[in-house]
Amino acid sequence: MKFITFDIEDWFHILDHPETANPSSWDKFESRIDHGVGLILDLMDKHDLKGTFFCLGWIAEKHPHIIKRIDAAGHHIGTHSYYHQLAYEQREDEYRKDLSDSIKILSDLTGKTIDAYRAPGFSIKESNLWAFDVMAEEGIKYDSSVFPANRAHGGLPQFKTDQPCKVITKKGYEIIELPMNTASLLGQKFVFSGGGYFRLLPKWYLKKLFKSQEYVMTYFHPRDFDAGQPMIPGLSRFRKFKSYTRIKNSSSKLGCIIKQNTFNGLKIADLTLIPINVVNL
Ligand SMILES: [Zn+2]
Repeated sequence: MKFITFDIEDWFHILDHPETANPSSWDKFESRIDHGVGLILDLMDKHDLKGTFFCLGWIAEKHPHIIKRIDAAGHHIGTHSYYHQLAYEQREDEYRKDLSDSIKILSDLTGKTIDAYRAPGFSIKESNLWAFDVMAEEGIKYDSSVFPANRAHGGLPQFKTDQPCKVITKKGYEIIELPMNTASLLGQKFVFSGGGYFRLLPKWYLKKLFKSQEYVMTYFHPRDFDAGQPMIPGLSRFRKFKSYTRIKNSSSKLGCIIKQNTFNGLKIADLTLIPINVVNL
């Protein structure tokens, strides 16, 4: 089972950087969201494919037509939080308000129940496992925030599986978890189905990786396809390389992978789900 998903945010929604961390600074940046989302919707249309779009509440507030356009094209809308802050840096009440505000604006715009979520930067880790309780209490049924390997933000290397499973929260709620799937190279686990690895790995190798795994969870952003976007000032050379290299090839690469695999959005009923109890993590 392979899932195609997008995190709908603008090019300046880059985590952990002083120039972009505070939402009050975002209005000064040129918006590229129309162009980036347009590229994604065209690609999906071309392949007659429906996916899940985790949208920021902030994007819904500033560009409501974007959410309506995605919804009108028949895609599944989930939330990616309101203000794109790292979940493990928020108090529980801040986290709950941000999540519930995002759900409200997205459901007001689409008239639909918002039941799917991905935390910014996969920022669920050992210190904020309570977030699963909050998700369940706010109506989230599908979560895709678990990154079962080490990473710069978040990451839950102790999560026992990189396959679809059922998270039993501390308070006993159940959430369908669709974690990022991993591959291994020289004993190191890595995620190839989005972000820097997807852009940097050669097409032949990606094709092999996608084909070799039965379950794949992808994550793409509008900025992954927008070669004309400005560059965030003050990024380290490493982050520049990670964020901007080979953007031009992304659309054709993804098109090629889409042709070779069968993808869906998140609403799949016949998943076999092993339970993962949060208290044991
Ligand atoms: Zn994000």
